[in-house]
Amino acid sequence: MLNQTQINYCLDKIGEMFPDAHCELNHSNPFELVIAVALSAQCTDALVNRVTKSLFLKYKEPEDYLNVPLEELEGDIKSIGLYRNKAKNIQKLCRMLIDEYGGILPADRDELTKFPGVGRKTANVVVSVAFGVPAIAVDTHVERVSKRLGICRWKDSVLEVEQTLMRRVPKEKWSDTHHKLIFFGRYHCKAQSPQCEICPLLDLCREGKKRMKRVKGY
Ligand code: SF4
Repeated sequence: MLNQTQINYCLDKIGEMFPDAHCELNHSNPFELVIAVALSAQCTDALVNRVTKSLFLKYKEPEDYLNVPLEELEGDIKSIGLYRNKAKNIQKLCRMLIDEYGGILPADRDELTKFPGVGRKTANVVVSVAFGVPAIAVDTHVERVSKRLGICRWKDSVLEVEQTLMRRVPKEKWSDTHHKLIFFGRYHCKAQSPQCEICPLLDLCREGKKRMKRVKGY
């Protein structure tokens, strides 16, 4: 496992590699972001952006999603995986938003997780990106990178990964670190083919050293 100095070094290097890391889901307000994140489960941001380009022109307010039959909304998002479930959750989310929150999305993680289809990760993304509240959303990239590098243990749950990162990273850097780890995982330390041979973190990385040993006796 990495010590604090090594973790700081890794996060600094990752920051240098991806200084412009940011949320890649297109949106123009918190409501659009929560819809985009809800659509993004098990699906790429690029595909979500293709769908929301026309979706957000047609549906602007929570009421708009409730003014169409479920089948019509399903049709509008059907190129996205799990679209039936997602359409149902979006309508339930809009119903609850109107009935219990006066149509205004709360800027609070715990409140957000009460909405259908909104888990802790989605809520963390929304509070951090839309409302500027420090949070570390642990998605598949953040979890994989944290475990490969030895910032977290392989057996850690997603919540444990989040808690470890919150302990190890200063609060004012939580949101930025989340984006940088996502970019690092998405474009460099990829799930199937991590670029270990050109990785500046190889000397510190337990997974990278194991992989390089297998490939060329590093
Ligand atoms: S050495 Fe390989 S596994 Fe480790 S962080 Fe770099 S790319 Fe990922």
